Amino acid sequence: MNVVLQGAFWLALYLALVLGPLAVLILAPSPGGAGFWWDFAMGMGFAGLVMMGIQFLLTARFRRATAPCGIDLVYYVHRYLAYALVGVVLAHAVIPMVINPALRSAFVPFTVSWPMTAGSASLLCLLALVVSSAGRKRLRIPYEAWRVAHLALGVAAVALAFVHMISVGHYTATPVVRALWLGIGLSLLGIVLWLRVIRPWRLLRTPYRVTEVRPELGSSWTVVLEPVGHDGFAFEPGQFAWVTIGRSPFAMQEHPFSIASAPAPGGRLEFTIKELGDFTQTVGRIPVGERAYVDGPYGAFSIDRQPDAAGYVFIGGGIGIAPMTSMLRALAGRGDRRPHLLFAAHSRWDRVPLRDEVRALAEQLDLKRIHVLEEPPEDWSGERGRIDADILERHLPDDRGNFHYFVCGPVPMIRAVERLLVDAGVPRSRIHTELFDLA
Ligand SMILES: Cc1cc2nc3c(=O)[nH]c(=O)nc-3n(C[C@H](O)[C@H](O)[C@H](O)COP(=O)(O)OP(=O)(O)OC[C@H]3O[C@@H](n4cnc5c(N)ncnc54)[C@H](O)[C@@H]3O)c2cc1C
Repeated sequence: MNVVLQGAFWLALYLALVLGPLAVLILAPSPGGAGFWWDFAMGMGFAGLVMMGIQFLLTARFRRATAPCGIDLVYYVHRYLAYALVGVVLAHAVIPMVINPALRSAFVPFTVSWPMTAGSASLLCLLALVVSSAGRKRLRIPYEAWRVAHLALGVAAVALAFVHMISVGHYTATPVVRALWLGIGLSLLGIVLWLRVIRPWRLLRTPYRVTEVRPELGSSWTVVLEPVGHDGFAFEPGQFAWVTIGRSPFAMQEHPFSIASAPAPGGRLEFTIKELGDFTQTVGRIPVGERAYVDGPYGAFSIDRQPDAAGYVFIGGGIGIAPMTSMLRALAGRGDRRPHLLFAAHSRWDRVPLRDEVRALAEQLDLKRIHVLEEPPEDWSGERGRIDADILERHLPDDRGNFHYFVCGPVPMIRAVERLLVDAGVPRSRIHTELFDLA
């Protein structure tokens, strides 16, 4: 299925899920008679509640369901649908006040009946969710604290909305509609249970052990994990996993990292991790033998999704070289003879993680390496500055439309390179990106 068809399919499914309960409401016996705008506003409330449920569903990491498009894309959809959700719930709250000015005071929590207080508290939770997520970096909210608050606010928003809806009860009085909402409520509870209880519990049964922690150039470390008492999992080179080291999988202290090794029998995994913040700065001090848990694989950033390419062009900035190394290792292991290119953008030569590894892989593959350095050494004869149109033009093959392109690095770099590639004549459908910034 092409991208447009896939998009249309998911949009239709989303609308069916959001509007489905409305259809049941219309078909079921209704209390009737409050006028179109009133009914419309109540409909928005029901649609908003279903949208809240879908927000949970989208982040529940159902591997099989998210496999075709990659879970990172699903997280982006979750982010943008949140704005639509707030709009729908605001419409539900504001339209009745416009129709009937006497209701304006109904929005002030604790001054009105508790079902109305529950409704406005739910809306406040939603607004807090959106503001704290969109402005997390600017408000300097630490990621871990944000994540716990995000879950708590999300659960509170849904629970309060349910209390509001059932206790106001005007449109939910019939047994059919009550059964529908009970089903939706139980499904939501099931998703939270799956995410926070069943999945961590399953991870507990498939532990890993840290067998090596080695320093890399560019303030990075490679951590090697081996499965204990199981065979690990199959993955496609370039995919990523959520890793918990030295903590319980129930602790919500997991971090996403690309798998830098190629798939191997025995389930051994390597992650190359750049020191950046609270957790990653402690990676160099992780003792060998430490317990770890790996939830994966996720993502669609893999050569195995594009097997029919004339060759691959990898464009990595900073630690974005990690998934590229996984793909190069896999190609070398398979004895691939197609021509490939690697553009590696870094500040300095002595800050290129996995530099020697990539050089060794180039000897086994038909791989042209183009290192682009912002601060090159004096005797540097390679490319300098940042990847630009001239650098791409000098190195991209003439039959560039037959290659597939994998771009990973800082978000501004990815966006700039995407534009440059399109300008250079590469079809958009052949450009694949991995953002190291889900939240
Ligand atoms: C799909 C994907 C693949 C990645 N692969 C790699 C890799 O191979 N090597 C590598 O060095 N880095 C990778 N990262 C980035 C890595 O996840 C973050 O650098 C790391 O989680 C930072 O955690 P911290 O506690 O050290 O930093 P903090 O200072 O706590 O956070 C720095 C920033 O990292 C992000 N972040 C922090 N914790 C998490 C988390 N649990 N989940 C998601 N984002 C978080 C937040 O945006 C935060 O603002 C990847 C990220 C993603 C989304």
